[in-house]
Amino acid sequence: MNRRSVDTLIRAARVHDGERFLPKDTDVGILGGRLVLFRPGERAEAGEVIEASGLTLAPAFIDIHNHGDLRLLSRDGANLLSQGVGTVIIGNCGFSPWGPCARHALFLNDDAPFRFSTAKEYFETLGRTPLPVNAASLAGLAALLPEEGMCEQLRAAMEAGCIGLSVGLNYEGQNEIDTAGLISLASVLTSYPNRWGGICWHMRDQGEHLAEAVAEVVRVHEATGAPCHISHLKRTGVEHPEDIDAALAAIEPYPGITADMYPYVEGFSTLRSLVTIGQEALGSAATPANLATAGCKKCCPNLWADVVLAGGVPETTVGKSIEQVAATFGEDGLSAFMRLYAEYPDATVCFMNQSHPSNFEAVLKHEKGLLGSDGYVYDTGERGHHPRSFGAFSRFFACCRDHQWMSHEQAIRKMTSFPAKRFRLEGRGRILPDYYADLCLFRADRFGDTATFGHPGALSEGMERVFVNGKVAYANGHAVSKSGGLLRPSR
Ligand SMILES: [Zn+2]
Ligand SMILES: [Zn+2]
Repeated sequence: MNRRSVDTLIRAARVHDGERFLPKDTDVGILGGRLVLFRPGERAEAGEVIEASGLTLAPAFIDIHNHGDLRLLSRDGANLLSQGVGTVIIGNCGFSPWGPCARHALFLNDDAPFRFSTAKEYFETLGRTPLPVNAASLAGLAALLPEEGMCEQLRAAMEAGCIGLSVGLNYEGQNEIDTAGLISLASVLTSYPNRWGGICWHMRDQGEHLAEAVAEVVRVHEATGAPCHISHLKRTGVEHPEDIDAALAAIEPYPGITADMYPYVEGFSTLRSLVTIGQEALGSAATPANLATAGCKKCCPNLWADVVLAGGVPETTVGKSIEQVAATFGEDGLSAFMRLYAEYPDATVCFMNQSHPSNFEAVLKHEKGLLGSDGYVYDTGERGHHPRSFGAFSRFFACCRDHQWMSHEQAIRKMTSFPAKRFRLEGRGRILPDYYADLCLFRADRFGDTATFGHPGALSEGMERVFVNGKVAYANGHAVSKSGGLLRPSR
């Protein structure tokens, strides 16, 4: 038998192809950035041989909910790579880094000045920049200006390279669009049959009106047939965990609707978001102070004690709750909030105790449930904001293993072939011949998160090596190359 030669050969790993484990002694080769599979007993020659006995080899994981739109351009992505993530979907929650989005700079969490006036300009830059991981992008609703014809602008964004649309319907500005407007936008998406062409929903309400918000998703899906995906499906407030079961039951009859969540009870957003959320509760006649209190009540059970400053404020207040800041200055929580909001409206905050602990477990275990970090992209050593950026994937895997949520097989499938198939990321998410060589090699018994709210920038442990497009991107606890790129949908 002829020996086939490859650049790299990974020998004797326990190989999971994204759907299931392959027979023992299957070796995996990399040749020119693509995968070559060797059946048990088949012989190979390789430039480099990696002896991987005792390790698990899987397709690199896919984070379908990330906000690294800008940070991808400058960071080394160690937080993602140490979790085995090799591809992200950006442009979530209705935010994209072009057009009128400059005011969302802090939401997209970048200190660099904004440079992009159109989607085309952004994708040209993204397309020629080496990235730490691959990226596919949605078009954020906030980047589409109502006065300039939103459908036309969405079409331009799709032509520039987006795979679909995202909306953040509880954010100021975005909350002005009604269901009919969303149906018009969804109809634009369905004219792109060769790509995902759906909507990712940060829904209008994640609190007491969760059921109505889910019904809106179903209505748009039924009216247009556009695939719909509910981002970070949660019921804010800890009292009504059963509402999540009802939400999952409501989407169950629709194969075209899925949902994701991150494995934490704590949420993350901006100070501004509290005021916007209050707006829905109180109407436009309310004062900013009332709005903020109402918004906070909707997000956190313990009011100002549960809102913890994460970034975009003076370093001395990072990690402190609004209540703690208030105590330092001898004021009440609301006054402290109003003072901070006036100066730093886009400061980022973590919401402690945001949902019931059974919430994320219910979504992630559900057959429609996917994993999305809702995080950012960080450099080695950079301080994180919410530990989910550094630990969503490793923590999910550890939960599946340590709390018997599901088998390794099912857990890996949820992070690889399921999202790849769902979002139509061609040639990714499986270990199959000729697929792109995006791989992660890890210790299944040790792989887990270490990031906490005290140390939100701690890398995950147990990840030995990550390959992105055939090149080693992560090894020995370090990000070592940028071999990812923009994933452009086929026309
Ligand atoms: Zn969101
Ligand atoms: Zn998000």
